[in-house]
Amino acid sequence: MQNPFENAMAQLNKATKDRNLFGDDFVERLRHPNRDIRISIPVKMDDGSVKIFEGYRVEYNNALGPYKGGIRYHPDTEINEVKALAFWMMLKCAVADIPMGGGKGGVTVDPKKLSKRELERLSRGWVQKLSDVLGPHKDVPAPDVNTTPEIMLWMADEYAKITGDTSGATFTGKPVEAGGSLGREIATGLGGFYVFNALREKLGLPEKCSVVIQGFGNVGKNAAEIFSEHGHKVVAVSDSRGGIYNPEGLDLKKLAEHKKNTGVLENFPGGKNVTNAELLELSCDLLIPAAFENVITEMNAQKIKAKAILELANGPITPEADEILYKKNIPVVPDILANSGGVTVSYFEWEQNLKGEHWSEKEVFDKLQSVMEKSTQKVFEKSKEFGTSLRMGAFILALERIKEKM
Ligand code: NAD
Repeated sequence: MQNPFENAMAQLNKATKDRNLFGDDFVERLRHPNRDIRISIPVKMDDGSVKIFEGYRVEYNNALGPYKGGIRYHPDTEINEVKALAFWMMLKCAVADIPMGGGKGGVTVDPKKLSKRELERLSRGWVQKLSDVLGPHKDVPAPDVNTTPEIMLWMADEYAKITGDTSGATFTGKPVEAGGSLGREIATGLGGFYVFNALREKLGLPEKCSVVIQGFGNVGKNAAEIFSEHGHKVVAVSDSRGGIYNPEGLDLKKLAEHKKNTGVLENFPGGKNVTNAELLELSCDLLIPAAFENVITEMNAQKIKAKAILELANGPITPEADEILYKKNIPVVPDILANSGGVTVSYFEWEQNLKGEHWSEKEVFDKLQSVMEKSTQKVFEKSKEFGTSLRMGAFILALERIKEKM
């Protein structure tokens, strides 16, 4: 697996070299997070033994506002991944023009191997070790892969117990009945859809697209449902075990039921099994990677047949693959624009908690649409102004905003 932080730095090099826009000192500063914190979390297991888990919080840059970014629970999570994700969060908040900085957290753990009580102790332990650096005006974590609204609630509760701050504004992505924002659950998928809608014609895509989605978790499943509700044909989706393909379109309701009953997408009667590698190479109008980083590399980029790619996962395309796709004229809508709906509604949640307000779902979605459309337009204009890809357009826009503030 390529080092995601090296990939992020290669993107930074590409966006800044040959462009006398930023100056070496600024770029050098952005190569280093403000703080990179590693913790060990002792957890009492149900059998009475104590297991130590490795945890992280990277506070990359807070020029635009408090550090903001999710917490990932995954066996492969390590510091370079967390640093890369924190770097991208910094850019993402700047592209969305929200007053938040970039951070990210994680724990190296396979949460499926823990009982619910062990998971709760681990989550509370993460907060106990980090409570002094967190806070509504310092660092505001959120969910990411394998972290749920319930986990955010345990964390917010632990933080309130330690600090006495009961505003709830230190953690976003909480359940709605416990201070969460309406609309947060689907915000990343819906935000991605608004971005797609704003760019569809410019990318030369048809009014009704065939869509392939890798990942069937929070982001992938919601994106599948939203694209399908708007008349697009979702022809393939996958989870970690593999995917399912039907060129006539998948019945998503029946597929979700099948996954609920069997635990997997495989062997769904309404389609044929495909591997994750095959899924990425299917012919379609729009390919949406919505699972993990580094899935499109120099090994498979030549074989991609999609007409355009919408990155809802973070960092799914390596810099080498990005270059190949650009030469093949396959436009890529970059993660720091396409999946910024999640952090935008997280920001709305933070604002509601601080003001003691509860916005309606319509209000949340209207505001989200407006943020996503504005940032899409700005990114598009930057890429035209500099004659470059949408990714580089988004980088330039974000770096300009951060530099001005710094
Ligand atoms: P999730 O845990 O809800 O779902 C992840 C999905 O990916 C699951 O369906 C899982 O089975 C699948 N998966 C795991 N390993 C895979 C593999 N090797 N190949 C194919 N599929 C695999 O996570 P999520 O919140 O949906 O996040 C997915 C991606 O979106 C991540 O890159 C995350 O950083 C990014 N993202 C999430 C949010 C958010 O609001 N949740 C916001 C912005 C970006």
